[in-house]
Amino acid sequence: MEISDQQIAHMLELLSRDVACTKAARYRDATPSTAQEVRDWYDGLSFENIESLTEKVVGDVQQGLMDTYVDTTWPACPRHSNHPLWFRDDSWYCERDGVALAQLGGLPEILPPLPPEPSHVPGPFVRRPRKGSASS
Ligand SMILES: [Zn+2]
Repeated sequence: MEISDQQIAHMLELLSRDVACTKAARYRDATPSTAQEVRDWYDGLSFENIESLTEKVVGDVQQGLMDTYVDTTWPACPRHSNHPLWFRDDSWYCERDGVALAQLGGLPEILPPLPPEPSHVPGPFVRRPRKGSASS
């Protein structure tokens, strides 16, 4: 069965939502952004359908985030937080409870919101009056 670029693009759109709601969002390179990129990743491999390709892509993105220590429990289970959710059958599973918690693209609805970016900390670039300028 031929997988279309549109199917892949749709899958990437959903996957990017799941990545964007976690701290992995800052590591864009971990996720392919175009259908062509996905095809390049798996050059020479063929997949039966979009579901099996999706499972492979999600698994590899997850593995990449863990292997590079971006997040070793990506995406962290919202129920237990100390283990990742696993993706199969088009859903994110908590294996401990044996339940599907969300579909691909559904993590923003079940994960806690990201903490705000740390506010700007003034560094050594604080403007000071020039020495001597006040004495003249
Ligand atoms: Zn869990």
